[in-house]
Amino acid sequence: MSQQPNISLPAPTITPVSQPFWDGIKEGKLVLQKCDSCKEWIFYPREHCPHCFHHSLTWKEATGCGKLKTWSVIHRAGHPAWQERTPYVVGIVELIEGPSLLTHLLLNEEELTHNMDVEMDIQEIGPHPLPFFKQKEEETT
Ligand SMILES: [Zn+2]
Repeated sequence: MSQQPNISLPAPTITPVSQPFWDGIKEGKLVLQKCDSCKEWIFYPREHCPHCFHHSLTWKEATGCGKLKTWSVIHRAGHPAWQERTPYVVGIVELIEGPSLLTHLLLNEEELTHNMDVEMDIQEIGPHPLPFFKQKEEETT
């Protein structure tokens, strides 16, 4: 990671539907759609609720916390710009709000356990702030 990391990193594909999600990431927040009818949280961004097909969805800030359900250690990156970061871990995080997302994890293989608590951690990778997940820090009271 001593070299320039942004040689040719592919940018996220931002559409009019997903724009608020990426605007939230730029502000350090995880914002998701919530259905105004059935109240389910939704990810990925869509035009209609996948639970009840209602079209009235509102963007709301989520906790950014969830549990790690499964993962895979990547040794050969899918894009050459990621190769210098290998090995890295991608996994499925089930958010407290309900939806699951595929994400890059800031954890080493030996740290991974099923259902471990994780939280979003936005990383500036090249010119793009991207949502990664890391082990949730213990709350001290
Ligand atoms: Zn709904």
